[in-house]
Amino acid sequence: MAADADVETFAFQAEINQLLSLIINTFYSNKEIFLRELISNASDALDKIRFESLTDKSKLDSQPELFIHIVPDKATNTLSVIDSGIGMTKADLVNNLGTIARSGTKEFMEALAAGADVSMIGQFGVGFYSAYLVAERVVVTSKHNDDDQYIWESHAGGSFTITRDTTGEPLGRGTKITLYLKEDQLEYLEERRLKDLIKKHSEFISYPISLWTEKTTEKEVSDDEDEDLEEKKEEEEGKIQEIDEDKEKKDKKKKKVKEVSHEWTLVNKQKPIWMRKPEEITKEEYAAFYKSLTNDWEEHLAVKHFSVEGQLEFKAVLFVPKRAPFDLFDTRKKLNNIKLYVRRVFIMDNCDELIPEYLGFVKGVVDSEDLPLNISREMLQQNKILKVIRKNLVKKCIEMFTEIAENKEDYNKFYEAFSKNIKLGIHEDSQNRAKLADLLRYHSTKSGDELTSLKDYVTRMKEGQRDIYYITGESKKAVENSPFLEKLKRKGYEVLFMVDAIDEYAVGQLKEYEGKKLVSATKEGLKIDDSEEEIKKKEEKKEKFEILCKVMKDILGDKVEKVVVSDRIVDSPCCLVTGEYGWTANMERIMKAQALRDSSMSSYMSSKKTMEINPENPIMEELRKRAEADKNDKSVKDLVHLLFETALLTSGFSLDDPNTFGARIHRMLKLGLSIEDDATDNIETDADMPSPEDDADAAEGSKMEEVD
Ligand code: ADP
Ligand code: MG
Repeated sequence: MAADADVETFAFQAEINQLLSLIINTFYSNKEIFLRELISNASDALDKIRFESLTDKSKLDSQPELFIHIVPDKATNTLSVIDSGIGMTKADLVNNLGTIARSGTKEFMEALAAGADVSMIGQFGVGFYSAYLVAERVVVTSKHNDDDQYIWESHAGGSFTITRDTTGEPLGRGTKITLYLKEDQLEYLEERRLKDLIKKHSEFISYPISLWTEKTTEKEVSDDEDEDLEEKKEEEEGKIQEIDEDKEKKDKKKKKVKEVSHEWTLVNKQKPIWMRKPEEITKEEYAAFYKSLTNDWEEHLAVKHFSVEGQLEFKAVLFVPKRAPFDLFDTRKKLNNIKLYVRRVFIMDNCDELIPEYLGFVKGVVDSEDLPLNISREMLQQNKILKVIRKNLVKKCIEMFTEIAENKEDYNKFYEAFSKNIKLGIHEDSQNRAKLADLLRYHSTKSGDELTSLKDYVTRMKEGQRDIYYITGESKKAVENSPFLEKLKRKGYEVLFMVDAIDEYAVGQLKEYEGKKLVSATKEGLKIDDSEEEIKKKEEKKEKFEILCKVMKDILGDKVEKVVVSDRIVDSPCCLVTGEYGWTANMERIMKAQALRDSSMSSYMSSKKTMEINPENPIMEELRKRAEADKNDKSVKDLVHLLFETALLTSGFSLDDPNTFGARIHRMLKLGLSIEDDATDNIETDADMPSPEDDADAAEGSKMEEVD
């Protein structure tokens, strides 16, 4: 080291000084990021000299190789990061490492105060100072083509020194940053830890990163060899005779000796895969990259590797995993699996702006040529470049899914794992809704065990069929024999079974496919096109059943909105449909299952049930006759309630009061078995329906029952 006379001392700029004390004195657990920052600086410096050498090759003469070396030294408790980058002149050292304030210094401190993570430091352009997370003293030796080799050194504490390096090992060109590690940070001397760190944060740096590693080999040596030195001495002293006598004994007594040697180990073996040509990359290589990226033990299901050029440039590799993660829809954890790089430097791995939530299961990397390296999260939010990247990523994801769909087996796997995401996308992403709709698959009245796409449905549509019909419910079993499908089935119209809770939300947004309306079989307003003759017949039936409809509405009171003659049931006596814009029975079930639902909303959305009756059904015909003969007929009343409750069940609703329903059924059983009713059974019949009319003739009602 040079003599003291050559040492110049500089004061840190005030804000930098503040930042340094903050870094040194505040407790951060995530200290490991310092290495990423130093490697990223090394990579930047290499980028710069590489760039300069593009126009002037001789710039590389001082050190033709471009590399990053990491050297842990347990003897001195130091960790050095050495690069053959552009290096820093004396002025650079003074300016860049301490006297000229960086615009991000203050912002970073404010961000920290507001709870930001220290790992964001690089994004504020002050990454170098993260060295003080783990070091008590930092020494930077640097050689720039235009200057001598200089040493920058600081314990923090307000000042740093600059010394011309006249005695140190010449770097040729580049920078060596030596960290004198704090006593409690010696883990950063461990090979394993360093390797893992480099893999984790800097694997895709496009320059070779080599770690100076210690290799211990065990060697079997005989004691003679071990005692070589001594022997030599002895030889000199002329004691050869004695040793010869011992020889036989010693040959059998072999000994293990540890030999320590050092070597460079290349840590980032792979050239970033996205920088290579897709046609030159094997499936195995993609798989290896995917696994290293995700820690998945299985290979990916699909990959999309592409680059976008023109006004904006980026490269990306996107993967679809074979399985959904167990916490796919854990709302506490924001899933985002796209790593953002800027010119090969890893920037962040959970950038919300990069991909919409519904594609959170897609994994991969994006490497932008245009974004600034020191971009902050705040900047990302309004960044136009990022918006364009996002749009492209979504487009490519959908393309990738469409490609998966070409293979039925693969697509089944994909759909099983991620259909909810696609449906969420339909709900949220209006721009891509139509394309996402092509990815939907459903069981239907005609699909058998297979799933059908909407596209295939359309090709099977009957002549004259204008709409696409669907039914929502809890399971395929629960909907496939629903009374709502009777007429549609008879007409040969296919009905899709939407039995995923999220289907309700998705179909609510989708509304139509290829210009064809999606129509719920369980909601009001289902119009099945009929011939004129049929329509005329229907009108006649309507008239014929007008009185019964009114009687039934009076009996059921607020339980139903209205009672009308049905156009959709063929066999069943009646069913309950919901309003076109209200909840379906299935949605009511889903909402009831959500503990925190807004109850005012539920009463508003779920209250509109319309009872539809089937005029062809003999039960309804008999009921009609009785109701017309005597609107207060006790048996009519009881039957109407029973029909209503049964319709609740067959239409997919739940019973508010199963006991009353049970009691009614038991009474029917007794009737069927000709068992005399005893008085105690009679009381409860209409207890659950206090409509105004009931109140009025309650006394009369119970009297009548006693008479029964
Ligand atoms: P940033 O990398 O965002 O510019 P840093 O605090 O990490 O911020 O680095 C500050 C500056 O110090 C860099 O811009 C660069 O000019 C200089 N620098 C740091 N490390 C090196 C290096 N290894 N080689 C050359 N210059 C360096
Ligand atoms: Mg930096």
